[in-house]
Amino acid sequence: MNPLLDFAGLPRFSDFKPDFVAPAVDSLVAENRALIERVAAPAVAPTWHDFVQPQEDANERLNRAWGMVGHLNSVMNSPELREAYNANLPKVTQYYTELSQHQGLFEKFKALRASAKFERLTGAQRKMVENELRDFRLGGAELPPEEKARYMAIREKLSQLSARFSDNLLDATNAYAYYATDAGELAGIPQDALLAAREAAAAEGRPGWKFTLHAPSYLPVMQYAENRALRERSYRAFVTRASEFGKPEWDNSQLITEIVKLRQELARLLGFASYAEYSLEPKMAESPRQVLDFLNQLATRAKPYAERDFKELAGFARDELGMDRLEAWDLPYASEKLRVARYAFSDQEVKQYFPETKVISGMFRLVERLYGLKIEPAQAPVWHNDVRFFSIRDRNGQLVGEFYVELYARPSKRGGACMDDRLTRRCKDGQLQTPVAYLNCNFSAPIGDKPALFTHDEVTTLFHEFGHGLHHLLTRVDVLGTAGINGVEWDAVELPSQFMENFCWEWEVLAPMTAHASTGAPLPRELFEKMLSAKNFQSGMQMVRQLEFALFDLHLHYDYDPAGMRSVLDLLDEVRERVAVVFPPAYNRFPHNFSHVFAGGYAAGYYSYKWAEVLSADAYSLFEENGVLDRTTAARFWDEILGMGGSRPALESFVAFRGREPKIDALLRHSGMSGGAGAPV
Ligand SMILES: [Zn+2]
Repeated sequence: MNPLLDFAGLPRFSDFKPDFVAPAVDSLVAENRALIERVAAPAVAPTWHDFVQPQEDANERLNRAWGMVGHLNSVMNSPELREAYNANLPKVTQYYTELSQHQGLFEKFKALRASAKFERLTGAQRKMVENELRDFRLGGAELPPEEKARYMAIREKLSQLSARFSDNLLDATNAYAYYATDAGELAGIPQDALLAAREAAAAEGRPGWKFTLHAPSYLPVMQYAENRALRERSYRAFVTRASEFGKPEWDNSQLITEIVKLRQELARLLGFASYAEYSLEPKMAESPRQVLDFLNQLATRAKPYAERDFKELAGFARDELGMDRLEAWDLPYASEKLRVARYAFSDQEVKQYFPETKVISGMFRLVERLYGLKIEPAQAPVWHNDVRFFSIRDRNGQLVGEFYVELYARPSKRGGACMDDRLTRRCKDGQLQTPVAYLNCNFSAPIGDKPALFTHDEVTTLFHEFGHGLHHLLTRVDVLGTAGINGVEWDAVELPSQFMENFCWEWEVLAPMTAHASTGAPLPRELFEKMLSAKNFQSGMQMVRQLEFALFDLHLHYDYDPAGMRSVLDLLDEVRERVAVVFPPAYNRFPHNFSHVFAGGYAAGYYSYKWAEVLSADAYSLFEENGVLDRTTAARFWDEILGMGGSRPALESFVAFRGREPKIDALLRHSGMSGGAGAPV
C-alpha cells in the first residue's frame, strides 16, 4: 500500500519511495476536487457538519501526504525525490489556488456566517469561518469580473517582478569576484575563510585566493581583514549590487518603483487606502499609524544608546586602531576588535560546557517543571538513524502530543532550523487526534565517541524551535484551522518561540544543563556573567538599524507616492535622518538588495520582528516578576497563550495572560536599554 495514503497512524517513513508521490497526489487532488464540488452544491446545507468538516477532512489528508513529501524533500533530499517533488508541487498549488478562488465555497461560507447556526459554533470554529471569509475577500473574491481580472493580473505581474528582483540580485552577487595574489593583503582573515578562498581560486585553475560577495566569503573580510582598501572595495561592490552602478540588465531600480506602484493599485482595488493597510488586515497590528507610533517610540528610546555605542566605537577606533574617521567599511572590523578587547572569552570556550545530552535533558526538565508534563522517548518509524522521537504526557499520564527531533546537519538535509507540524490536534467524530511535530536543527554531529557540543547560540536556537513546538503541541483547540500555530497572526507567531529563548539567559536554568566536555565541571558563574554582559554589545546600534529598515518598509507602502517627486532613496535618507547613527556613503543602494520586502513576504511587515520581540519579552517579564520557574504563571501562559492557538485574536490572548496590553519596557530592559541608572543622557 502507498504509505502516503495510509492515514492510520504515524507516517511509515521506511516504506517511502519517490515513485509513490505522483499517484498519491493525483488521487488525493482528484478526490478533493470532487468533494469540493459536492459540498459547494446547493443541495448541501451550509453547516459545520455537512459543509466545513468534510473539507477539513479532505484537505487534512492532502496536507498529511504532501507534508510528508515536503518534509523528506528537505531532510532526505535526493535527485529522484526532488524531481518528484517539483513535478507534483504545481498540482498541489493549483488545487489550493482553485479553492481560494472558488465562488461557490465563498457563498456558502457567507451563508454559514449569516445563519443562526453560526452563533452556536464554538469560538474556535467561528474564528476559522471568519478567517476563511477574510481570506476570500483579500483574494479578490468580492470584486466585479473586470476588476477581478485586473487583480489576478497584478498578482501575476508582482510575482514575476519579485522573482526578477531576486534573480538580478543573485546574478549581480555571483558576477563579482576579487582575486588576491598577495598574501600580505589578506592579513587578519581567519584560516578557514582563507582556505575556502584558495580552494575557490584553485577550482578555476587560478593561483591565489578568490573572494566573493556571498556571506561566508564576504563577512570574514569585513570583520577581520586589516587591509582597509580591501574592505572598502568589497563593501562598495556589496552595497551597489543590482543597482545602476552595475550591468543595466541587473538594475533593480525600475523594479522597485513598479512593485510599489502595483502593490498600491492592488490594495486600492480591494478598497484599502494603502498597501500597508491591506498587509495589516490579517495581522495583529491594527493600523499603519499604530505600527509607526510603535517603531518611532522604540527609536526614541533606543537612539541615545545607539549614539553611545557609536561614540564608544569611534573612540576605540581612533585610540586603538588609529582610524580618525570611522567609515561604513570599518564598522564590522572595529566592532569585532572592540568586542574582543572588552569581553575576553570565545564561543569555543563556552561550547565545551554544553554537551547534547545535558542540553536536551535540561530543556525537557524545564518544560516538565513549568507545565507539569512528562517527556519520554517513544517508538516511531523514522527517516534516518539520527532521528529521535518523544512523547509528552500530562500529570494523569494522558498523551498530549509527540515530536521528532533531528539535531545534526547532513549533506542531504537543507540548512537552518525549523519546527513543522505533522499532525494537528482536532476532534473528529468524537475522537481526539493528538498533535505531532518535527523539530529540525543543523548542529554539528558528534565526532567519534564524544557527545555533540553546542554553542550558546545553538542552545538558544533549540529552545526557540521547541517554543514553536510547544505552541503546536500544547494547544487545547480542537479545530484544524485554529489549533496550535494555525490561524495565529503572522506578527504574533514568534511569541512562544522567542519567549523560550529567555530561559537560556537564566542562571538557574542554564547552570544545571552544563558539564565541561573533558572535566565535567559546570559552567563557571564568572564565564556566565561575561556572556551576559556581551549579550547586549552594541544592542543600541543594532536596534536602530532594524528600526531604519522597518520604518523605510512601512512608509514605502503607506504614505510614499511612487509616482511623485521623491525617490525611494530620498525616503530612506529621511528615515535615516530621524533614527540612524551610521550614515553610509551616497553610493549605498540598500533598497536594491532588500529582498525581504521586494522579493519575500515582508512587505509592510518587516516591523514584525520587533513587534513579536516586544510581545515575548513582555510576556516573559511576568515570569521575572513571579519567579521564572513559577508554575502558576506557567499554567496561565499555557491556558491563555499556548493553549488558545489561533482561536482568538493574539491581542486578546496576550491581555488575558498579562492583564494589560503589551509594553515595550521589558524588551528595552532585556536589551540593556532600560533607562534609570547608567542610561545615557
Ligand atoms: Zn521562529
